[in-house]
Amino acid sequence: MTDTPILSTHGLTGGYGDFQALFGIDLHLMPGEVISLIGANGAGKSTFLKSIFGLLPVDREMVRYEGAAVGGTPAHKMVGRGLAMVPEGRRLFVGMTVEENMRVAIDHARLSESEGQWTRNRLFELFPILGEKRNQPIEDLSGGQQQMVAISRALLCQPKVLLCDEISLGLAPKVIREIYAVLPEILSGGTSIVLVEQDVTLAREASNRLYCMLEGRITLTGNSNEISRDDIAAAYFGAS
Ligand code: ATP
Repeated sequence: MTDTPILSTHGLTGGYGDFQALFGIDLHLMPGEVISLIGANGAGKSTFLKSIFGLLPVDREMVRYEGAAVGGTPAHKMVGRGLAMVPEGRRLFVGMTVEENMRVAIDHARLSESEGQWTRNRLFELFPILGEKRNQPIEDLSGGQQQMVAISRALLCQPKVLLCDEISLGLAPKVIREIYAVLPEILSGGTSIVLVEQDVTLAREASNRLYCMLEGRITLTGNSNEISRDDIAAAYFGAS
């Protein structure tokens, strides 16, 4: 790891029109790291990811990526620079096949699949079930399999940073374990990861460091294996 974050935010504020949801978020991600952002419903986690990814307006200096101020850069340009997001709810295209769904982001961002390490064949090795179902309509797949497609679609953009918004949501524990099991392989391929999670145990196990958010502010941060459960509970619920 180097000393320079690949991604950082600096006093990031933002929200929806007049409604402010984020109040000065300072966060950083080092190359080769997995960090988790935890917090209850409505804490602002998704808003934060969308703000980084250029889906909500923020000031330029509030987001730095690979040393450059990039706040407010539109999402498709952020993809071109090496950022990709697995959005909450997956947002796949009904009526399209598994493979068509996987290709859609790279086509949109005009990326060349052959130039990167993540190809469809490699993803079919990572998630063999997707290879078997590649020509099936996306709606025929289970929730967990659809999540695998959403992750694959993001990886086909060859990201250096992957933003994952609640990839465990609504899935059975066995399926969650299957999905989380691929994170080390993604990491070893040179992609650093930001996980938004509501499941604290999962977040702690999967990440090097953890940030806890409450009502649009970071209330606790530290190494995942050093923060106590009591501290997390207090930061999560706002208890003193
Ligand atoms: P969840 O786990 O429920 O997704 P979250 O921590 O991701 O929670 P956000 O979805 O970022 O929280 O919501 C932060 C705040 O912004 C909440 O008060 C929410 O009601 C509000 N909010 C979210 N989306 C919108 C929107 N499109 N328009 C207006 N307000 C919104």
